[in-house]
Amino acid sequence: MPILSRLLVAAAIIVGASTTADAGTLLEPSLHLKRSTTAGETRVALTLDACGGRADNRILSALVDNNIPATIFVTGLWLKRNKVAFAIMRAHPDLFEIEDHGARHVPAVETPVRVYGIRAAGSLEAVDAEVKDGAAAIEKAGGDAPRWFRGATAKYSTTSMKEIQGLGFRVAGYSINADGGSLLPAAATEKRVAAAKDGDVIIAHINQPSHSAGAGLVKGLLALKARGVTFVRLQDADETGS
Ligand SMILES: [Zn+2]
Repeated sequence: MPILSRLLVAAAIIVGASTTADAGTLLEPSLHLKRSTTAGETRVALTLDACGGRADNRILSALVDNNIPATIFVTGLWLKRNKVAFAIMRAHPDLFEIEDHGARHVPAVETPVRVYGIRAAGSLEAVDAEVKDGAAAIEKAGGDAPRWFRGATAKYSTTSMKEIQGLGFRVAGYSINADGGSLLPAAATEKRVAAAKDGDVIIAHINQPSHSAGAGLVKGLLALKARGVTFVRLQDADETGS
């Protein structure tokens, strides 16, 4: 893989506040890889959230069987319930980068808002605990110390973004919402994934084995693979740092 400096470009997009006027506006950061400098090369980062629930073995086995690398954001909750799936990920360190999706899957926002109906952390101390305890759970389970954080719902406040970065983490945005929180039908998910272009960072879920989105994700990934797309993980894309 070519070593390029500063391959990731992040930007923050202001989105509407969740429920209350005093919530102000929340940030939903986007993330792109830098464009490939190799003619004809298309590089895409696949990021998958494991919020709670179970492991989607349709996706996990497709990634292993087809040698597709991914960055997996796991919560402490998910790790407790999915030791076998985590062991499979750890057995393939060349494929799976494990990063921090929080301890309890609460939005990393310090105000008492709800985001998509989920009550936010509500204080800076609780944001800190979500980030740090999530990282500690990964290390306790045998993973490497995470460097990236993606909070539940992937929304933040200006203050909580600064707090998370102050703890030494990079905040993982995305550029393609592939599965709409795992709720999209398979065909729509497949279409979104298959449309990925050079530099895109895909977000989808690997914790909803009963949802049809997972089947669509696999089909879309295989279509990208057939097109000759190179999959990169966030840690590889950023290997030379800033
Ligand atoms: Zn999540």
